Amino acid sequence: MTNITAPPRKFQGIAVLDHKDWKNPKKVEFESKNLYDYDVEVKIECCGVCGSDIHTASGHWGETKKPLVVGHEIIGTVTQIGSQCNELKVGDRVGIGAQVFSCLECDRCKSDNEPYCPKTVNTYRKDYTDGYNSKGGYADYIRLHEHFAVPIPENIPSHLAAPLMCGGVTAFSPLLRNGCGPGKKVGIMGIGGIGHMGLIFAKAMGAETFAISRSSAKKEDAIKMGADHFIATKEEPDWATKYFDTFDLIVVCSNSLTDIDFNVVPRTMKVGGKIVSICVPEQHEVMNLKPFGLIGVSISNSALGGINEIKQMLDLVSKKNLKIWVETIPISEKGVKEVFERMEKGDVRYRFTLTDYDKEFSK
Ligand SMILES: [Zn+2]
Ligand SMILES: [Zn+2]
Repeated sequence: MTNITAPPRKFQGIAVLDHKDWKNPKKVEFESKNLYDYDVEVKIECCGVCGSDIHTASGHWGETKKPLVVGHEIIGTVTQIGSQCNELKVGDRVGIGAQVFSCLECDRCKSDNEPYCPKTVNTYRKDYTDGYNSKGGYADYIRLHEHFAVPIPENIPSHLAAPLMCGGVTAFSPLLRNGCGPGKKVGIMGIGGIGHMGLIFAKAMGAETFAISRSSAKKEDAIKMGADHFIATKEEPDWATKYFDTFDLIVVCSNSLTDIDFNVVPRTMKVGGKIVSICVPEQHEVMNLKPFGLIGVSISNSALGGINEIKQMLDLVSKKNLKIWVETIPISEKGVKEVFERMEKGDVRYRFTLTDYDKEFSK
């Protein structure tokens, strides 16, 4: 039984109104959800731009309700709390990732696997049981269950904290769950927005790190991020022979799996090694592999990370003072158009954060 602390009110956001015209987002007003007794209201300060935003805005992941307000790497300040909240207070700086609700009662939720709960509500485009269609961080405010708003350590600047909330934990979770640490050889395949964070985390966790990319274009950057080794697979066609029996873990951070040869990659793995993909490709994509190649090796797919993992990641970033590579762009119709166009071209090193919310939404 859940009671309402405050009824809906008007929020503002930059929204997609038609997938056919997704690169011309419009500033809109929309109705918020109820503030239930366990919810908080957060005034948004900035929001990272995730590949999922582009897949969803463009309609590549299917039709959505409109207005569609994407954004699930949110940093902001708590402005209101429901009458039953006990974890947060007004004034707390919090981060919100790709999930805003789960049942918190099932075995999956109780074992810190909230993203795998069947009652999960994603931060945008998903319907709550009361019918409200969730709306994300390209907006001035958001309301959500307090469990999914995580306090941000003081020494992490907001614009660098934002991309951690989805992209960051998506890279961190498979590293944490698969034993990344001292004495382990860990490959990060695909050095884009998520992969670059994976590289920074794997190094900070103490592993020997290998950046695996198609070309050597990102070599210099990858070394600065913490790669001990760099492999350009298109330039070294026999790389799998050269690195036979090397890796304990490879995290695949590419946008698509069609370019990855799963008959070759397993040869580079130690017995018992794990290949974990975090890729959520376009709906029609299928994986093509021969089970023979997999002898002694396992392949799995990982989704986001639980709240407990987000907290551990933030702790690591704070204690080791890690800095991810972020380009900031002020939010507006024009700013969102620009990030959509540049993300589609892959023109970002390595992650965007939308900023200056006060300027756009004070009117
Ligand atoms: Zn995301
Ligand atoms: Zn659950």
